[in-house]
Amino acid sequence: MIRIEDVIETVEKYRPGADIDLIRRAYLFSALHHRGQKRASGEPYLVHPLEVAHILAEQRLDEVSVSTGLLHDVVEDTLVDLETIRSYFGDEITGLVDGLTKIAQISNLSKERQQAENVRKMVLAMVTDVRVVLIKLADRLHNMRTMQFLKPEKRARISQETLDIYAPIAHRLGMGKVRSELEDLSFQNLYPEEYRRLSIEVDARRPELEATLERITRTIRERLTENDVPYVAIEGRVKRLFSLWKKLKKRKLTIEQVYDLIAARIITPNDRKYCYLTLSVIHDTWTPVPERFKDWIAIPRDNLYQSLHTSVIGEGGQAFEVQIRTEEMHQVAEEGVAAHWKYKEKKLGSSDDDESLDELRRTVEKLLLPLVETTQDNEDSEDFLESLKLDLFPKDVYAFTPMGKVIQLPRGASPLDFAYAIHSEVGDTCTGAKINGRIVPLKSELQNGDVVEIMTTASSKPSRDWLNYVVTAKARNRIRHFISEQQRTESIDMGRKLLEKEADKFSLSPKKLINNDTEMRRIANEYGLGRPEDLLASIGYGKTLPRNVLAKFLGPEKFAELDPEKKKETRISTGMKAVKKFIGLGEDAIIVKGVDNLLTTRARCCNPLRGEDIIGYISLGKGIVVHNKRCKNVQQLMVNRDRIVEVEWAKADNNEIQSVRLLVTTENRTGMLAGITNAIAEIKTAIRDASANVSRDDKGLIEVTVEVFDKKHLDRVVSSIGQVPGVIAVERMNAA
Ligand code: MN
Repeated sequence: MIRIEDVIETVEKYRPGADIDLIRRAYLFSALHHRGQKRASGEPYLVHPLEVAHILAEQRLDEVSVSTGLLHDVVEDTLVDLETIRSYFGDEITGLVDGLTKIAQISNLSKERQQAENVRKMVLAMVTDVRVVLIKLADRLHNMRTMQFLKPEKRARISQETLDIYAPIAHRLGMGKVRSELEDLSFQNLYPEEYRRLSIEVDARRPELEATLERITRTIRERLTENDVPYVAIEGRVKRLFSLWKKLKKRKLTIEQVYDLIAARIITPNDRKYCYLTLSVIHDTWTPVPERFKDWIAIPRDNLYQSLHTSVIGEGGQAFEVQIRTEEMHQVAEEGVAAHWKYKEKKLGSSDDDESLDELRRTVEKLLLPLVETTQDNEDSEDFLESLKLDLFPKDVYAFTPMGKVIQLPRGASPLDFAYAIHSEVGDTCTGAKINGRIVPLKSELQNGDVVEIMTTASSKPSRDWLNYVVTAKARNRIRHFISEQQRTESIDMGRKLLEKEADKFSLSPKKLINNDTEMRRIANEYGLGRPEDLLASIGYGKTLPRNVLAKFLGPEKFAELDPEKKKETRISTGMKAVKKFIGLGEDAIIVKGVDNLLTTRARCCNPLRGEDIIGYISLGKGIVVHNKRCKNVQQLMVNRDRIVEVEWAKADNNEIQSVRLLVTTENRTGMLAGITNAIAEIKTAIRDASANVSRDDKGLIEVTVEVFDKKHLDRVVSSIGQVPGVIAVERMNAA
């Protein structure tokens, strides 16, 4: 069992002058809080953080990483919170522990296999310091090494996650050794049967393979010496079971057909010319297999791996692979980013130097960038290379459903985007959202790792405001589609009412016309419209006048005969009924719903207020424009009588408010504005803005915009202002 002294000894060896006290304090803190906890193996829990710290020390990371290794499970698994960690260990370690805790939560949530790609991205998106990834990999490595005590299902789940998420990250970071170990352990635990079968098959050949390797390495040693080509080490290896298994499966091969079942690796001194010299000796000794030579030195792999690979045919026709690289290349291949870290340490000595830190950061980002492939363009990558933070996915945000499904959205996305991403129906019927269990406004911005729960009501419908809160095309299109559908339904409805009213004026049975499908279709076609509903919609929008439709229905003669305009005199003589119907609030008046509703708009000239007497005018293309009955423009509009319709206010929504501008004339003395705003505030009315001026005749002129529900409310505001001493007059101003 590893002791803290072993960890400290390892750190002291490569980092003289390191803050050993920090490591000791972290150890004591961890020991105190994990006290009494046991691992599945029955050992004290503390063994795990100690081993993780030791792995990190062996990777030669700094004492902050090693200390975080000791503390990494404290927040996740004990009652200690981040603020306590901060008060003992400061911001740097707290940031790392926080990152690790968040990753742990993600992996608890994400149970769905096909989400691997997104989870991998989310893990990286949440990391703001590459050390978090290195510590996480060490944590996972130790857990994988000791998973024999877990139940098979749990072993399989963790192994799958390791294969999907952590081994690829290790690979991307060039950490060949960690990656191999993670893969082989996952293979063994996830597919125990296949692992066993393949082991038996390879083991049966192992004595022979190892004898062959022995002969090969001896030959290489002799040939290099003969040719005066220096080398540092020559190794032989049998292919790892996981990569062998993958190859056999993918290519449908048998073991005999695998070219690189055995391989020799030659490590040269640190100059690439020795690699090429070595290669020429190898090709001079054995026949190379055409097409099997790869020069990863001239063109390094994405993860900065460098090596020469060649396959040759040995004695007895046995093919094998030879890998040739320098010591430094070998170190990068085995340790990846950790090796870069070490170079940084070498350069740094013991002092902190921002420039080399930046260099390291650049290397890490270069390694991880290909994982980001999707939405980055060049400009962005440059931008983010400049930023100090490791923000790998500046354009994306990843959130969870309560079931653990990951939803990828653009940054700035809201719960509504999330709802539409799940399903259009969920979006359409969304009534609210919870983020991490708390109810939030629909316009909230989602953060990485948020668990989002969407509340729906079957009868609920999208609202036009939503367009301001969504950033995804899917949500926007869906909301727009819904609004235009709704608009159409309403306009058909409105068109029907208008046509019925017109028919009534002509003393026709409205049903007779509207239900006469053939006639309606004929008239629609005359207007270039397809179906009767299209004709009604067009009337509803005000594009087609109901009077003209009637003319087409009746034909010129009949139309002239029935035209109420022609019979005006008789009508008036028949009494007041017609007049009342015309300007009064008849039972069949058209209902004006909201103010900014689709087919009715408030006239800008008089800005009618709920509760005031109103009248509608069918404006071409704009639907019905609602005026205050006393508006001076109404007189002029009356000329086109057939476009005037009766309208009345629908029942108010509770929270429907309207802005009204008032002009208050006062005596010119100080404190008038304050007196007026106080008077308004006293009756609990919102003021949108207010300004004061002096008129030429030395009167105070105060303009104030108030938010009111209806005419009654406005009357109260006006009378309240009127009672302020010094107020001479209160007038309502028209909208601009
Ligand atoms: Mn752990």
